[in-house]
Order: sequence, then structure tokens, then C-alpha cells
Amino acid sequence: MKDITSYVTELTDELIELRRDFHRHPELGFEEYRTSKVIEEYLQSLGLKTEKVAKTGVVALLRGEKSSEGPVLLMRSDIDALPVQEETQLPFSSENANVMHACGHDAHIAMMLVAAKILSQHTASFAGSIKFVFQPNEEVAGAQVMIDEGVLENPHVDAAMGVHIWSPLPSGTIGIKSGAVTSSMDVFKVTIQGRGGHTGYPDSAVDPVICASQIISQVQTIQTRFVSPMKPIALMFGRVAGGTKNNIIPDTVELEGTIRYLFSTKPGAQDNPTDKFVEMVNSICQTYGCSAAFEINHENDAVVNDPIMTKLGYGAAAQVVGKDNVAEHCSMACEDFAAFADCVPSIFAFIGTARNEANSIYPHHNPKFTIDEATLPTGVSYLVTGALDYLNGGCE
Ligand SMILES: [Zn+2]
Ligand SMILES: [Zn+2]
Repeated sequence: MKDITSYVTELTDELIELRRDFHRHPELGFEEYRTSKVIEEYLQSLGLKTEKVAKTGVVALLRGEKSSEGPVLLMRSDIDALPVQEETQLPFSSENANVMHACGHDAHIAMMLVAAKILSQHTASFAGSIKFVFQPNEEVAGAQVMIDEGVLENPHVDAAMGVHIWSPLPSGTIGIKSGAVTSSMDVFKVTIQGRGGHTGYPDSAVDPVICASQIISQVQTIQTRFVSPMKPIALMFGRVAGGTKNNIIPDTVELEGTIRYLFSTKPGAQDNPTDKFVEMVNSICQTYGCSAAFEINHENDAVVNDPIMTKLGYGAAAQVVGKDNVAEHCSMACEDFAAFADCVPSIFAFIGTARNEANSIYPHHNPKFTIDEATLPTGVSYLVTGALDYLNGGCE
């Protein structure tokens, strides 16, 4: 019996080749036609039956032979790229103008395909089943579409694993943490209505600019005074717009931004920062004689890792990179794996990929973003180890 690492080592060239092929041919959300065709052909070559879910999503089930009974583990890879013009100069750069795998989902697909290959050769080692889920449109919203189309049933899924290759963490490390590890996000647009006038007669107008300035600074007190300082919030304004000329008080000012918070909240909960935001904006507007109109969308839930699945993930990560290289890590970025984690006990882990020599130090979504390919085998080993540990195993 060999250990998992040696199976992965044998497949490393194939792993890198797959990742480079997906990288060269990126496709935007729900348009991943070539991508899903390559995924299907690869899975079918392993003897797996594939099914299309959520337009361009692919699902395949691998049954263990150790016992006919057993749990079902969902393993998820996202497959979409971003509307970014690549600037890496890599020989396998994107061939599609203004589309790039700038988040690393190309790596996720390759890692999960190779993990599927290894696991398909070891069905005698586990009971239960693995549902491989290749999900479209993560950058907007794809997980919920798959769930709505029944991906968590037939057979019913008991737990889920997901990973993200991660440039904020160094190569050779894996980030694992119980609880919220990516943020909830509400996106807002507030239109503050005043009454325009002459800047020489400010008292005869209702000035939405001074009102907006108060709002921008006052709402920052939501964290600490209304939500515990132990619960991180990032309340950011990305667009402030109003007025046409230096001596005219405008009628309106528009404020747009995001409220990210590293916890999950139910509508109406005491510590919902967005409810408090609306209340404070209304009250500040009232003080200045203005009124506010809101457009608010809840775009993402936090990914909340289950404590038992986190232990499993920690164990797998420690086997792969050693205890000293498992970091507690969470992020204010969003991840729609949250939709799966909301439904079944889940573990979402970050596979570190930053290394100066590999030039893999750029942030996700940057036109120069790239990964350290040396971390691809780490990701595969983590996925295979985690799956076999969950389904009782070890390779035989
Ligand atoms: Zn992304
Ligand atoms: Zn991503």
C-alpha cells in the first residue's frame, strides 16, 4: 500500500497540464461550455456517469465498495472565470479576450478531477459515496441554483467539503477554522433626498451633502456600539455621487457600498448590522431634514464551518502539510459555498499559494494573479485524505 502523496506525485504532470488547459480557456459564469465538456469527458474516462445541473454544472457520483451503506460526501469545485484581461505573460495565458481565471478556479477543477481519479481507484477503501459537484457561476451565484435543481438529493448529501486556493496564505500552508470563514455581504444604494439651492444661502436649502458626510462617518460606530467588537464588520462606501457645480447645493446624493460581516445573521436579529445601518441613516436624515430611499440586496451568506467537519479538515490538513503549517484563517471575501454550508455540515479550507519565486503574490481578481503550481498536489492530497477520513478509510 502506498500513501496518498505517492499517488498524487504520479499524477502531478497531468494535474498541471489540466490546470493550464482550463487556464488557457476561461469562461464566464453559466457559459462554461467547453470547461464542463472537458470535465465530463475526464469523469467519464474514469467510468463515472455524469449529469448536467444548473446549465453548465457537472455532477458525478462515486460509490464506495466497502459497504453498500454509508454517508454521502459532496465535494465541490467552482469552475467559472472573471471578466478580466490577463496580464501575466504566462505561456498558457487566457486565449479569450477579457476573460481570465483570476481567482484560481482553474486550479480547483484540476485538483478535484485528479482527486476523483485517485478516489475512483480506491473504491474498496470506503463505504458510502462521493458526489463530485462542479459548480458554475461562483463569482455571482451558482450554488443555490444547483441546490434548487436538487443537487443535495438523490442520494441525499450528508456533508460537504470545499477548498479555495488562496494567495493571502503562503504555499505549503492550509487555512482551517471553525465558524464563519468568509463574509456575509449586503450591497446597498442609498439616495438622500434634500432640496437644492445656492451655496450662499445654505439655510434656505436642505443640504444632502452634509447629511451624507455625517452618515459616512456615523455608521462606522455600528461595530462596537451596536454589534460586538468581537464580530468583525467592514462597512465600506465605494461610490459617493451628487451635485453638478461648485456653487450649487444638489437635490440628492447617492451613496453605494457594501456591508460585510464575518457572521451569519437572521433577518431581524439584534446584531444585524444592515438593519442598524438603515435605522441610523433614517435618523441622521431626519436630523438634517432629508429623507432616504434604499436599495439593499443580501448577496452572500457567510460560509460557516461545522465544528466536527472542521476537526476532520484539520486532521486531513495536518496529515498533508504538518500541524505547524495549518493556520487558523478567515476572510472578508465572499464565497457562495455558503449555500451548501447552510444546508449540510461543511468544511471550507484555504490552500495557501503565495510564494515569491512563483510570482504568486498578487491578490485574487488581479490581472496578474497566478498560483504556485507546487500547491496543486497539496490541494489534491487534502481532498483525497479528507474524503477517505470522512468515509472511513485510508488507501488500500
Ligand atoms: Zn473570486
Ligand atoms: Zn474564487
